[in-house]
This record gives sequence, structure tokens and C-alpha cells, in this order.
Amino acid sequence: MMTGKTAPRRLSIFGSTGSIGQNTLNVVDHLGGRENFEISVLTGNSNVELLARQAKASGALMAVTANDRHYESLKSALSGSGIAVAAGKSGLMEAADREADWVMAAIVGTAGLAPTLAAARRGADIALANKECLVSAGDLFLATIREGGGRLLPVDSEHNAIFQVLEENQRHAVERVILTASGGPFRTASRHEMAGVTVETARAHPNWSMGLKISIDSASMFNKALEMIEARHLFGLKPEQIEVIFHPQSIIHSMVGYTDGSVLAQLGAPDMRTAIGYALSFPRRPNLPIERLDFAKLARLDFEAPDEVRFPALRLARLAMTRGGVQGAVLNGAKEVALEAFIEGRLSFLAMAEITERVMDDLAGLPPAADMDDVFAADRQARQRASELMTLAVTG
Ligand code: NAD
Ligand code: MG
Repeated sequence: MMTGKTAPRRLSIFGSTGSIGQNTLNVVDHLGGRENFEISVLTGNSNVELLARQAKASGALMAVTANDRHYESLKSALSGSGIAVAAGKSGLMEAADREADWVMAAIVGTAGLAPTLAAARRGADIALANKECLVSAGDLFLATIREGGGRLLPVDSEHNAIFQVLEENQRHAVERVILTASGGPFRTASRHEMAGVTVETARAHPNWSMGLKISIDSASMFNKALEMIEARHLFGLKPEQIEVIFHPQSIIHSMVGYTDGSVLAQLGAPDMRTAIGYALSFPRRPNLPIERLDFAKLARLDFEAPDEVRFPALRLARLAMTRGGVQGAVLNGAKEVALEAFIEGRLSFLAMAEITERVMDDLAGLPPAADMDDVFAADRQARQRASELMTLAVTG
């Protein structure tokens, strides 16, 4: 029997101009576009032209640039369209306050934390690509989601994979999760070879097409480090229950090991639209034009133990998890400053982990966070200490 048309679901996409954001709009189009969804807000940063184009094409109600300086150009690009415009940090908070049933959190870095928290507080379902939210705010972020009443839907491919194969009624029997890592462009490189690498070689990921920062984090294994901490919070695991394995083909996106020795894995082509679609359609599976795996062509899947000496970021993740408290926020804040410096040519590739470790040691005595202000304070202190250490290194 035909029933009346249901109201379209309202979606907001924070970071719509990025790699995840563009893929999200693509998935929305494949799943019926305006027929099934109403776009509440899109946010971007400096790519105003793309943001305006996306807003018009999707019929968004509001477009926000995170950068105040781009307010006028966004306004003129959207003049006469009826699309509301805002800018800056306050604009992002306005975006978070707009009604939405489902929010894609795909701003890169700590900048995504405040708007994502605000949307969670309002009770929207949060599709989480911005792993920094969980790394920095951990249990406080989870508590905000719980209090808001929305669902947390992991989009990071590894965590989405685990989410897909984690049997809700078998949680007690989960022994471990195994995060796969492609190994990035330097999987087989020596420390000596890594010492002199440039942004151009570091950003060239073998399997995934992603934003600049996460591509470099994938080369240094800081991305996997953040994902270990993300997994710990998302799935309530002890640090020793989280394993990392190099798997250069990026076909197995992650696995869950159970107490009976069974291991369940999720496989697929390396295409973020699978994870995005799963989060958008959950609990149903959508129909998407993702490349299908041809096992005869694949022929083999390889695995290698990761080397924590060549990739110290993995060791730092374990250190942050065992120390607990605000060490996740400190690791992430220090890493972001070091990453920025590497991108700008002020710091070498290997020095990113050295700076991060020193900041983590220097701030190991910070007390656990009682509220979000403590998290933001730890992040600020980590950034400041990382900057100081880099200045010392340059002048000293
Ligand atoms: P990206 O660099 O391609 O896009 C980042 C988005 O954030 C853009 O829309 C940009 O305008 C916006 N942005 C940048 N700086 C900002 C600021 N200061 N304030 C507000 N907005 C700002 O990044 P991406 O690859 O799409 O990744 C986005 C997030 O998703 C990251 O947290 C990343 O770790 C995570 N993630 C990405 C992938 C992937 O395949 N790209 C996979 C897993 C997780
Ligand atoms: Mg990932």
C-alpha cells in the first residue's frame, strides 16, 4: 500500500568542500538527492567557489565559511539564491545550531571539535569522520552524544568496518580489534630515507585519495595512532585489545577477533563512499556504485607486522592510552602544530614524532579533564609547547 510521502531527512555536512565532504554529497546524490534529503547547512573554509556551487546544486538552506575573510565573497557568490550565509567560528556554531537529523563531521583537525559537540548536544546523529573529536575529548564527547540522544556512526573506514562486524549481542566476547593500515608511501622505507622526505612524496598515498593533512598523517602513521585512540573510545576497549597490522592492498578495512578464535572482517574497494553510505542509511545497506571486488584479480592479500621504531607514532598512541587523562588531546594538539610546520617546510618529517613525544612528556602531569574547557586548555598548552620546542630547535 502506498503511504504518504515522508519528510526528507535533514542533513548538514561540516567540511563539505573536503574529500569526505565531496564524497558525502556524491552519496547523497546516489541515494536520491533532494527527493530524500534536505540539506540544512554546508560548511567550508577557503574554497568559497566550490562551497557556493555545492550549496546551489544541493539546495542547501545555509552555507558557512570558517574563514571570516571570505564572508563577502561567499555572500556575493550566493546573492539572490536565498541561501543564508555566515562566517568564522561563530558562523560554524550557527551551523551547528541549525536543525539537522544527521550531521557529517568532516572538518579536518581540532577545528571540528566545537561545532561537532554542539550538533551532538542538539541530538543529531553524528557521522564521525573527524577522529580528532574522540582523540581529544574521548569520553566527554561520548557523554555529550549520549545526553543529546543521537547516534554516533563511525565513518573512518577502519572504525566503520569494525562497526559493521561488531555483533551487538556478542560484545562480551570481543577479544581484540585489528586495525589494518596500508603502510602508506614509506612502508618499506628506512629511517634514513624518511629523514629527508618532502610534502610531495609524503602526500602520495598508494591506495586512498584523501585530504592533504590525513595523507601526511598516513605516511607518518600518526593517522593510525589517532585511529587506535579513536577505537579505544568508540568500542570501549583496553589498549592491549587494539592491534595494528600492515595490509598494503587496503581491501580488508579492519577486523574483530572473538573469544572462540573467530575473526570477522569487512572487505571492499578502498572507497570512502561505502562507509559514508553505511552511516547515512544505517541500519539498512544502501545501493551504491562502488567497484566490486574481483577476488580472482586480487589474487592475494598481504600482512606485515608494523615497525614501531620506524613508525614511533604507533608507540606514542599506546603511551597516550596508558597514561590516559588529556594525553590524547596533547598528542593531537602537538602533532597538528608539527604537521603544519612540516607542510610549511619548517620541520623535518621525522621531527614530527620527536616534537610530539617531548610535548607529551612535558605535559604528562596535567590532570584529567573534568569538562570540555579542560580539553581545550590541554590542546592549547600542547600547541604552545610544540611551538616553543620548534623555536628552540631553530635558534638553539
Ligand atoms: P580535507 O582537507 O579534504 O577537508 C577538510 C574540510 O575541513 C574542508 O571542507 C575544509 O574547508 C574544512 N576546514 C579546513 N580547515 C578548517 C578550519 N580551520 N575550520 C573549519 N573548517 C575547516 O580533509 P578530509 O580528507 O576530507 O578529512 C576530513 C576529516 O575526516 C579529517 O578529520 C580526517 O582525519 C577524516 N577522515 C578522512 C578520510 C578520507 O578518506 N579523506 C578518511 C577517514 C577519516
Ligand atoms: Mg582511517
